[in-house]
Formats: sequence, C-alpha cells, structure tokens
Amino acid sequence: MVVGNFSMLAGLDPHAVHQWYLAVYADAFEWVELPNVIGMSQFADGGLMSSKPYAASGAYIARMSNYCDGCRYDVAKKVGADACPLNVLYWHFIDRNAAKLAKNHRLAQTYATWHRMDDGKKHEYRNSAESFLDKLDRGAPV
Ligand code: SF4
Repeated sequence: MVVGNFSMLAGLDPHAVHQWYLAVYADAFEWVELPNVIGMSQFADGGLMSSKPYAASGAYIARMSNYCDGCRYDVAKKVGADACPLNVLYWHFIDRNAAKLAKNHRLAQTYATWHRMDDGKKHEYRNSAESFLDKLDRGAPV
C-alpha cells in the first residue's frame, strides 16, 4: 500500500509500476499481481476493481503504522523542509485529477475540503508538491 500510494501520488506510469513489482518480488505471479497493481493500487483500470483511488496522505500512514516515528519528515506538517511530502502530494493528486475524479461521490468530501481551501494555501501545496516531484525527476535527494 505504501509503495503503491506513493507511486500513484507521484504520477508514475502504472505499467512501469506493474513491471517493477513483477521484477522485485520473486513470488509475484502476473495474474495476481497485475490486477492488484493496475486496478487496486494505481486505479489505472478505469475503476473496474475499486470505486475510488486508494490515495492517502501522511495522516493515514501515521494512523495505520509506526513508520512515521523514526522518519526525518514531520507527518503533521504540510509545507516546509521537514514536512511530510505525502501531504502535499495527496492534494496535488486530487487537484490534477479533478476532471476525472471530482464527480466520484466517494470523493465528494475530499473535493469539498479542497474547494474550501483558500487560494494561497492551494498555491503553496501545488508549489511544494511540484518542487518535490521535480527533485524526483532530476534524481536529486528528497
Ligand atoms: S512522515 Fe515519513 S513515514 Fe510518515 S507518511 Fe510521511 S514520509 Fe511516510
């Protein structure tokens, strides 16, 4: 879930993610792996397997695991050098996919929250996420 969520939020190519899972897991059989990755994890099957993307910000990771305890990022922060990148990546994903997802009733609350945010905050989130994604593209440390 953690790798799949990050891959989807970062906008990685779902086919490349599928190929990566096949390559790194010796026990990955394509007939099981492919629908789980393309469908459930990356929401790249047109919604056949899931009624909404399995997208999560840092808060969900913190609630479901203890990973954040030793992380150099602060899961409670949204922007800044030590802010958890998943927080802005989540909103960036929601924003950039609005044309496809905003009418999904299971995301109504999410889009209502996004639309309630003031423009300055949205701008800050977009910039922060794009700066993080740009570093990833350049292979720079994040
Ligand atoms: S604070 Fe660290 S471990 Fe927690 S969700 Fe963010 S990046 Fe992941």
